[in-house]
Amino acid sequence: MKFRFNLPVKAFFGTGTVRDNAAEFKNRGGMAFIVTGKSSADSNGSLRDTVASLDECGIAWERYNGIEPNPSVENVRDAAERARKCGADFIIGIGGGSPLDASKAVAILAANDIDDDELFSTDFPVRPLPVVAIPTTAGTGSEVTPYSILTYNKISNKKSIASDLIFPALAFLDPSYTYTLGIGSTINTAVDALSHAVEGYLSVRSSAMIRPLALESISLLAGTFSTLRKHVLPDEETRATLLFASMLAGMVIAHTGTTAVHAMGYPLTYYRNIDHGRANGLVMEGYLRFIEKDNHRVREILSAMGLESVEGFGELMSELLGPAEKLSDEEIRLFTSTASGSKNMANTFPSPSTDDVHEMMKYSFRNRQ
Ligand code: NAP
Ligand code: ZN
Repeated sequence: MKFRFNLPVKAFFGTGTVRDNAAEFKNRGGMAFIVTGKSSADSNGSLRDTVASLDECGIAWERYNGIEPNPSVENVRDAAERARKCGADFIIGIGGGSPLDASKAVAILAANDIDDDELFSTDFPVRPLPVVAIPTTAGTGSEVTPYSILTYNKISNKKSIASDLIFPALAFLDPSYTYTLGIGSTINTAVDALSHAVEGYLSVRSSAMIRPLALESISLLAGTFSTLRKHVLPDEETRATLLFASMLAGMVIAHTGTTAVHAMGYPLTYYRNIDHGRANGLVMEGYLRFIEKDNHRVREILSAMGLESVEGFGELMSELLGPAEKLSDEEIRLFTSTASGSKNMANTFPSPSTDDVHEMMKYSFRNRQ
C-alpha cells in the first residue's frame, strides 16, 4: 500500500462555530481582508458572525464584495490590489466556491507581484497570506482543498491553481449559513460534491486512504437525494449532512484531483454559463457509462448509492437537474477539444481519447433532452 495524505487545515464544524471559536482569529495579524460575493454573506449570518468575532479580537477589517460567480483572473487581481492597499495580514473568504477560491488567489497576489503564468504555478516567490475559509454553499469543498479555480479568458476556459501553499489555514463550517440557499443552488452544489467523491473514488490517484472518505460522502449524499429529487428544501439536519459530505468530498479531491467530468464541465460553464455543479451532473452518466466496463469501482459507487445500474444513476440526475441544455454539433466539438486539453483529464481511468470525450459529450447532450 502506498499513499500520501496531507490536509493542513484546522477545521471547525457546527452551528455557531465562528462565534464559539473567535479566539482562532487571534495571532494572525491586525488587519483582515474579507472577500465575499455580491450580497449573500450579508443575509445568511456569515458576515455578521465573522465581523463580531474579529471585533471581539480587536482585529481591523476591510471587505471586498465584488467577487463574481466563477471569478476571473482580472476579478481576483482587482481584489488583491485592495488587499495590498489596506495592508492585509490575512484573507477571509466567505461564500460559495467562488469567493473561497478567489480568497486563495488574493492571498497569493497580495504577497506577490507576478504574471499569470506564475500565478498558475505551484510555488511563489513570497509565501501567500494565510486564508480563513467560511463556506456558505455545500458543494465545492474549497475550504479543505489546495485549489483555486479561475476563469482564464486568455485560454477561453477555467483553469486551476493547485498548490499546497493555498490550503486554508482555518475553516469554519456552519450549516446554518446554507439555509438561505434556494432549491436549484442546493441541488447543483450537492451534485458538485457528489462528482468530487465519485471522480476521486475512480481517479488514477485514488488510494486506500481516500476511498473510505469518498464512499462515506457518496452514501451520505445519496441519502439526501430522496428529498432533493422531489425538489423539496432540506431540513436543518439534512443541511448539515450536505455540508459534511461536501467537506469529505473536498478532502478526497485535495488528494486525487478531479477527472473527465470536471474537464467536460468547465467549457459548459465558460461558454454557456451553466452552473458548475449542474455542468458536472449533466455529463456524469456519460462518463460512468464510458469507464464502467474497465473500472470495477463504478459498481461499488452504485451500490453505495443503492442503485442497480448506470442508467439508474442517469435517471436520478435527470430528476435532480431536469433536461439538459441544447448544444449544437459545433458546440459539442468545441467543448470536446477544450475538455481534452484540461490537465484533470489525465486523472481519468481508463484514459479517454478525444473521440471518447466526443462520444461522452454527445451522449450527455443528445440522450438527456
Ligand atoms: P458560487 O459561484 O460561489 O455562488 C453562486 C451563487 O450562490 C452566488 O450568486 C452567491 O451569491 C449565491 N450564494 C452563495 N451562498 C449563498 C447562500 N448561503 N444563500 C443564498 N445564496 C448564496 O457557487 P458554488 O457552486 O459554491 O461555487 C462554484 C465555484 O467553485 C466555481 O468557480 C467552481 O469552479 C469552484 N470550485 C472550486 C473547487 C475547489 O476545490 N476549490 C471545487 C469545486 C468547485 P453572492 O454572489 O451574493 O455571494
Ligand atoms: Zn467541482
